Amino acid sequence: MYKGDSMAFKIVHERESCIGCGACAAVCPGHWEMEDDGKSKLKGSKAKGENFELDVASLGCNEDAANACPVNIIHIFDKSGKKIK
Ligand code: SF4
Repeated sequence: MYKGDSMAFKIVHERESCIGCGACAAVCPGHWEMEDDGKSKLKGSKAKGENFELDVASLGCNEDAANACPVNIIHIFDKSGKKIK
């Protein structure tokens, strides 16, 4: 579980489960892009276990990306580790 630091939010992408629909990249192109293997990538994220993670100071359109994902594999945690999306 995420334990807070100076960043306010953590975005977690279960990339292995991505079905490549492109919705996240469509609604939030500043943070999400489609890669050659057909799955999306959270720009700047780092592999952590089976997921990719990125700490951010503000959510921006990542909340829209999480809402748009049809398979609910984009998760957002606040700095206390509470899941908010
Ligand atoms: S919206 Fe979800 S399933 Fe679609 S490309 Fe993005 S992460 Fe993958």
